[in-house]
Amino acid sequence: MALIVQKFGGTSVGTVERIEQVAEKVKKFRERGDDIVVVVSAMSGETNRLIELAKQIGDQPVPRELDVMVSTGEQVTIALLAMALIKRGVPAISYTGNQVRILTDSAHNKARILQIDDHKLRTDLKEGRVVVVAGFQGVDEHGNITTLGRGGSDTTGVALAAALKADECQIYTDVDGVYTTDPRVVAKAQRLDKITFEEMLEMASLGSKVLQIRAVEFAGKYNVPLRVLHSFQEGPGTLITIDEEETMEQPIISGIAFNRDEAKLTIRGVPDVPGVAFKILGPISAANIEVDMIVQNIAHDNTTDFTFTVHRNDYQSAQQVLENTSRELGAREVVGDTNIAKVSIVGVGMRSHAGVASQMFEALAKENINIQMISTSEIKVSVVIEEKYLELAVRALHTAFDLDAPARQGD
Ligand code: ADP
Ligand code: ASP
Ligand code: MG
Repeated sequence: MALIVQKFGGTSVGTVERIEQVAEKVKKFRERGDDIVVVVSAMSGETNRLIELAKQIGDQPVPRELDVMVSTGEQVTIALLAMALIKRGVPAISYTGNQVRILTDSAHNKARILQIDDHKLRTDLKEGRVVVVAGFQGVDEHGNITTLGRGGSDTTGVALAAALKADECQIYTDVDGVYTTDPRVVAKAQRLDKITFEEMLEMASLGSKVLQIRAVEFAGKYNVPLRVLHSFQEGPGTLITIDEEETMEQPIISGIAFNRDEAKLTIRGVPDVPGVAFKILGPISAANIEVDMIVQNIAHDNTTDFTFTVHRNDYQSAQQVLENTSRELGAREVVGDTNIAKVSIVGVGMRSHAGVASQMFEALAKENINIQMISTSEIKVSVVIEEKYLELAVRALHTAFDLDAPARQGD
């Protein structure tokens, strides 16, 4: 008998009919004799709807109150799923994050899980109940409701699996696994049987929203066997694995990630003196704005240009901070660009192969796509390009690195 944590995403619980289907599926697992903890998201679109409501009151909703509100989405789906299970004769009980006691820090809207009380869950499982837990939410030490950031139900699933030492954490979603790139953008994307934690972590942090970054971090740290599967289609899905050896046969590049959420800021004609990077980025970090890519040009005329990217949501505040810095430093000007996108190739195979970056640049050059910024690490190369070329770039790279699915007969 195994203990399995199953997480169902927003589209999988998007309607009452789908929730009934999920209940059927859980019932089948239960009948095999497995212990099941289910984590669910809010119905698809619900979290966005709630955030929009809050924004009607004001552009910058109070983070604590926003959490009180957005956490309601998951409270609805846990109750509906528990009802659907009970209707089928499967004993079930639903819990909010607070009721389980998923303890988090107090960073509203992006809280981190600190501890999970597995007491109640174990008792319920022992008594034969399926436990249905609300994803995405927790409670801080003062009893305030917190949420874990968009896509956070994945993290709830993995964290519960870690706390309960589950045999597997299954992430059920609207695709049948992790693909070489988003299958909604590249029709020829291929499902991967396996991907390493390390690669999945890069893919997630570079924009592949199929798994939340923290869920992958958690799974790697606590060695939780993690699998991504389709909610309503049979199939093996994708196993996220520690073992690099097992995936040795894979190509150099495992996947291509992309992200439209960044914006670029440049401060021009800054006096080139020691400490200038700190003077520019110090105030940005003091304003709690995270910087991603950074480029500083070689100086001429004793001045330099300095460019960096931030999340688009932070663009306006970053621009204001930079204007102030520009005045203080006597820089020439500040310019910004929100029409950018970041495309990244990811693969542990890169470690043992030279020339991967130049192969990437060649593929982009052939399509006449200009590269604005570059950053590399041991297992990834990222470039910033003009947003309108994003899909073209992803498709060109997918082909250049031999990731395209073989044409099916009749294609
Ligand atoms: P859920 O609501 O189930 O959490 P998400 O929308 O968060 O689902 O994640 C699934 C989506 O992730 C897919 O519909 C797909 O468009 C997108 N996606 C992005 N990159 C990938 C990838 N490499 N492999 C599979 N899906 C991806
Ligand atoms: N409902 C939350 C969101 O839309 C959490 C999740 O779906 O994972 O971000
Ligand atoms: Mg998700």
